[in-house]
Amino acid sequence: KLYNEVQDLKGSIRVYCRIRPFFPGQPNQLSAVENIEDGTITVSIPSRNGKGQRSFNFNKVFGPSATQAEVFLDMQPLIRSVLDGYNVCIFAYGQTGSGKTYTMTGPKEITEKSQEIHSSSHKGLSVPDASLVPVSSTIDVIELMNLGHRNRAVGATALNDRSSRSHSCLTVHVQGRDLASGATIRGCMHLVDLAGSERVDKSEATGDRLKEAQHINKSLSALGDVIASLAHKNSHIPYRNSKLTQLLQDSLVAGFISGGQAKTLMFVHISPESDAIGETISTLKFAERVA
Ligand code: ADP
Ligand code: MG
Repeated sequence: KLYNEVQDLKGSIRVYCRIRPFFPGQPNQLSAVENIEDGTITVSIPSRNGKGQRSFNFNKVFGPSATQAEVFLDMQPLIRSVLDGYNVCIFAYGQTGSGKTYTMTGPKEITEKSQEIHSSSHKGLSVPDASLVPVSSTIDVIELMNLGHRNRAVGATALNDRSSRSHSCLTVHVQGRDLASGATIRGCMHLVDLAGSERVDKSEATGDRLKEAQHINKSLSALGDVIASLAHKNSHIPYRNSKLTQLLQDSLVAGFISGGQAKTLMFVHISPESDAIGETISTLKFAERVA
């Protein structure tokens, strides 16, 4: 409850940033990250006359040593607000390899409890082949997530990792009853692991791959437009510009019309390596625009 009150004062959109640690065994890599302090991250930018710096502000920055437990603990009140009837959307944004899937599902142990799903499912969403499955425990949800992961990985090759070229969306619907008033409370949570935000070099990508890359860039920038419009309380929210924003419009938009029943967390991820600075800057600028 306290969290909800604080949130309502601050607006319903928060932007977090997380920096992946260097991979073990990476020898003496240069880091692009100069400093992390409270919600501010400072990165160094190579320029013609030496080295420049730029700072970006967020609601929170998790450095490379932040653990999943710390991140999850911070998000707990947000996720609990689903029980109060809020629609919560958590997006993971960033270039491929920056730690999006890790934040949403890591570390790997979570994926090793995997078993086949046998429960019957029915189609109830406007997305072709999406299924709505009743669940009664955390294990049920984890199993569904694993099924989604496996489906997402279909067709992956070293050259063209399908999982980084698609958005993954898990929606958990929760229905409960207020014990005092007997009223039914409905909330939902969308966990959206977005496709890699990296720009594809037009000279290298051709044909279907180029088209796919342009499509992904278009849907990510449409998402940015919607969240930026919500954050700035614009009267026109351009959610029709992509399938992703159409799918999520009830959660993203309805709350703003009906008085703050939606909460959105844009969790941007960056890689620490200095040679990733180009993508890092474009990720930070995306985040700055939606904050
Ligand atoms: P993305 O989903 O953005 O492509 P991943 O989540 O798959 O990136 O992360 C890339 C690699 O880095 C994985 O091997 C993952 O386990 C590791 N990794 C990412 N973030 C962290 C972290 N915070 N701590 C430890 N390892 C991480
Ligand atoms: Mg991933």
